[in-house]
Amino acid sequence: MTKSKRLDKFAIAAALQDIAALLELKGGKDRFKARAYQTGARVVAGLSEDVGELVLGSRLTSMRGIGDALASQIEQLYLTGESSVLRGLRKEFPPGIIELSAVPGLSISKIKALHEGLGVATIADLKAAAEAGKIKALKGFGAKTEASLLETISNHRQRGKQEERLHLHRALETANQIVAYLQTGGEPNAISLAGSLRRWKETVGTVRLVANTKRPATLVENFLRYPLIVEIKERMKEACTVRLADGARVSLVAARPAEFALALLTETGSATHVNKLQQIASGEGPESNNKQAKKKRAGRSRRPGGLQTEEDIYAQLEMEYIPPELREDEGEIEAALAGRLPEDLITLSDIRGMVHCHTTYSDGKHSITEMVRAAEAMGMKYITITDHSPTAFYAGGVTLDGLKRQWAEIDEVQEQVKIKILRGTESDIVADGRLDYPDRILEQFDVIVASIHSRYKMDSAKMTKRIVTAMRQPVFKIWGHALGRKLLSRPPFDCDVEQILDVIAESRAAIEVNGDPWRLDMEPRWIREARKRKIKFVISVDAHSTGALHNLKYGVATARRGWVRKSEVLNSLNVKPFQNAVKPT
Ligand SMILES: [Zn+2]
Ligand SMILES: [Zn+2]
Repeated sequence: MTKSKRLDKFAIAAALQDIAALLELKGGKDRFKARAYQTGARVVAGLSEDVGELVLGSRLTSMRGIGDALASQIEQLYLTGESSVLRGLRKEFPPGIIELSAVPGLSISKIKALHEGLGVATIADLKAAAEAGKIKALKGFGAKTEASLLETISNHRQRGKQEERLHLHRALETANQIVAYLQTGGEPNAISLAGSLRRWKETVGTVRLVANTKRPATLVENFLRYPLIVEIKERMKEACTVRLADGARVSLVAARPAEFALALLTETGSATHVNKLQQIASGEGPESNNKQAKKKRAGRSRRPGGLQTEEDIYAQLEMEYIPPELREDEGEIEAALAGRLPEDLITLSDIRGMVHCHTTYSDGKHSITEMVRAAEAMGMKYITITDHSPTAFYAGGVTLDGLKRQWAEIDEVQEQVKIKILRGTESDIVADGRLDYPDRILEQFDVIVASIHSRYKMDSAKMTKRIVTAMRQPVFKIWGHALGRKLLSRPPFDCDVEQILDVIAESRAAIEVNGDPWRLDMEPRWIREARKRKIKFVISVDAHSTGALHNLKYGVATARRGWVRKSEVLNSLNVKPFQNAVKPT
C-alpha cells in the first residue's frame, strides 16, 4: 500500500463538499447535515491558519461552524486522506452521481440505471451515449428523454441551483480563496479581481480573475487542479472557466506581463464599456476634442505591448483614468474624454463615522462596548448606536425604559473610549408614515435612521404617500435601506421613487447607502437620481455584529457606483459637523 498523502485545506474542503452534495441527494433529514458540511467546507477553505496545526493542536472545534462530527472527519482527511463518512456515502451511490445530478431531469434512480446499463459516470459519457442513440434503448428511457437530455447537455445550460448568481461578499470570499491557492504555487506576479466583482456589482455571475505570469499555460494547469472544481466549462491554453462545488462559476485569464494591463481592462469593464473603448482606439468612437488626437490614438493602440498599467491605456486613449466601479457605459467614457469625471469620488478612507449599528439592546449580537471598541479599532471617530424602535417587536425594538438604560450605558462606555458614541435609533416608518417614538423622544436622539420593516406589499400610491409623509416629518432623518430589497430574494417595493426624491430634496432628510451585502440599498441608478437633486448621503453598515462593521467597504463601493463624491457624504465629516448635519431638531 502506498503511504497516504496529507491533504491541504482545499482538498479537505473538496471532500467535505462531496459529503454535503451526497447528503443533499439523500434528502430528508440529511439535508440539515448537508448544510453543516457545506459550512465546514467554506470554513476550511477560508482558513488563514494552517489546517495541520489546528488538527494537531485539537483546536478545530474552536472554529465557528465546526462541531465534533465535522472535526473528526477533517482530522481523518488530514491524517489519512480519507473520510469514513464519504466512503460510506459513496457506496450508496453510483459513481459520477454528483456531476450527473446537476443535469436537470436526472433522478438518482435514472443515474443508477444509466450506470448499470451503459457505464455512464460523467456528463461526457452521458452525452456520448445519447449521441450514439444508446439511451432510448434503455429500460425506462424513451426517445423523447434521450432527445431532451441531449438538448440540455449541448445547451450546456445547467439551470437552477448551479447557475445562481452570488452575493458580492460570497464572490469575494471565493475569489480570495482561489488567489490564496494560486499564490501558494508561487507562480504569478499578481492576480487581480476583474469582471463584475471588481466593479463591485451587487451580485456576481462569474468570478473573474486575471493573473500576471510569465508562464500562463502552467498557471492554468495549476488552477485546474484546484480541488473544489467540479466542472470545466471552457478551457483554452491561457484561460479557462470552471464551476465549483458550491455552484460558483470562476473564470481565470492568465496573461503575460506585457499583456496584463490590457487583459485586466477588457476583463473588468462591462461589455459595452469595453466595446466603446475599442471603438475609440480604432478611431470610430465618440467624437473627441480634435482630429489629430484621434489619429494618434488609432496609431498607438495597435501596440498594446508597451502599456504597463490600465492608467497607461486610458492615457493613451487621451481620456481620464476610469475607476472600475464606473465602467458600465453610463456616461463615464464621455465624461473621461471631456476630463469631467468626479475627482473626489468617495473612498473608504474618507469615512470618519460608523453609522447604523445594532447592539444587544435589539437584535444585534454584540454589546455597546464591543461595537464601539471594534469601530474605534477601525479608526473611526464616531459611531451611531441605532437599535430598532418598539414597532419592530420581532427584532426586540427598544421601549422607552430600554432607551433610558441604553443612554445610561452609552454614558458609561463613553468614559472609557476616545471615539464619540452618538445616541441613535432605527425608527420604523409605521404604516401611515409616522415615525415610531413620540416627538419629545425623537428630539433627544443625535441621529435618526428611518426605515420600513413591515407591510412591504402596499400598492405604489400608498407606499409613496407613506414614505413622503415620513420624509416630511420635521425631525431630520436618514432614509434607511431605502427600497427594502433583499438581493436575490426580495425585490424593491413599489413606489414612485422620483417623487419621493423630489420631496427629500426639499425636506430635512438624507439617504442611506446601506452596505449590508444582502441589501446594498439604495441602488446606484437611484443614487444618481438623488445626486441630481443635491440630496446628501450617509454610507452605513447596518451592522448586527462587530464583524459586519466591515460592510463599510460594500457601502462605499455602492456609493462610488452611483458617482458619489466625498462632499456629498455626511459621515465623511468630523464628529461636530456630522452632528450638526443630522441633528433631529
Ligand atoms: Zn432595518
Ligand atoms: Zn438596521
